[in-house]
Amino acid sequence: MKRFQGTLAKPVPFVGVGLHSGSLVNLEVIPQAPNTGILFERTDISASPILACPSNISSTMLSTTIGKSPNTVATIEHLMAAFWGLGIDNALVRVSAQEIPILDGSAAPFVDKFSEVGIQIQHIPRSILILPEAFEIIDGDKFIRYEPPTDLDNPYLDIHCTVAFPSAIIGKQSLEFRYSEEVFLKISEARTFCHLDDVKMMRSQGLALGGSLDNAVVVDNEKVLNTDGLRYKDEFVRHKLLDFFGDIALLPGTLAGKVTMCKNGHALHAKFTNKIMTYLEKSESPSKSFSKRIRSAIG
Ligand SMILES: [Zn+2]
Repeated sequence: MKRFQGTLAKPVPFVGVGLHSGSLVNLEVIPQAPNTGILFERTDISASPILACPSNISSTMLSTTIGKSPNTVATIEHLMAAFWGLGIDNALVRVSAQEIPILDGSAAPFVDKFSEVGIQIQHIPRSILILPEAFEIIDGDKFIRYEPPTDLDNPYLDIHCTVAFPSAIIGKQSLEFRYSEEVFLKISEARTFCHLDDVKMMRSQGLALGGSLDNAVVVDNEKVLNTDGLRYKDEFVRHKLLDFFGDIALLPGTLAGKVTMCKNGHALHAKFTNKIMTYLEKSESPSKSFSKRIRSAIG
C-alpha cells in the first residue's frame, strides 16, 4: 500500500462519448494540493465542485452518480478506480456534461494516460482506514463482508469477489486480490458488460445511447458478441472488482482489511462505504481531519 498521498504530475485531457447520453464529453484531470481529495466540476453549468465521498452519492442505478440535481456527475467509477489503483488522492476533474466518458468501458485508458504523465508523490501520509470490528452488508443473496487486518503493523487489502449469472458464458467466477499496482493494472483492463436484452431495455428508456461493442462486452445467451472476444476469461469478475475499487476510492483514505463479496454492485458498495463513514465519524482515528473536510464540503 502506498504511504503518501499523490496527484498527477500535470493536467491530463480526455475526449469521449457518454455511455447514456451518447454525446461527446470533454474531461480534464488537474493536479491538486494534498488533502484536497477528488473534486468533480461541471463546466457546462455554473455550479460548485462536488467532493467524491460516500455521502455525496445520489444514485447507484447502472453507475455511481454523485451530487444533487442538476449538479450531478454520473459514471465516475472507472475514473475513480484509476485514481485508487495508481495512488492519486488529489485531483480536480472538470467535465463538460453530466457523465464521465465511457472510453473503452474499462479503466485502462485513464490508467495509461495517468501513467504516461506520471504520479507526483506529495509526502503527506495517506490515512489508512482500519475499522474496529467485522461487519456485513447483506441484500438477499448479495453481500459484502469486512474483517479488520490481523497484522496492524503491515496493513493489507485482501478481496475475494464472486459473481454468479445464469448465462453459461459468465456463470460463477471468483477472484482473489491482494493490492499491488502490477495486479491492479491487469484488473483495470476489464470492461463493463451487459446482456443484449439489457441493452434493448435500456435503449427503450433512452439510456445507453452511447453504448457499443467498442465500450462494453455484450453477452447474448452463450455468446460474447464482440468480435475480438474477451480480454480475460474471467473479465466479468475482474470488472466487478474494478467497480468496487472505484467505489471505495470515495473513502477518505485507503481501506485495509479483508473483504469478501458476492454478487456485489454499486448499490451494495455505496451501503458499504456509507457504513464505513459512520464508523469513522464516531472514531478518534487519524482520518478525523478528513471527516471534518467532508462535512464542510457537504454543508
Ligand atoms: Zn463498471
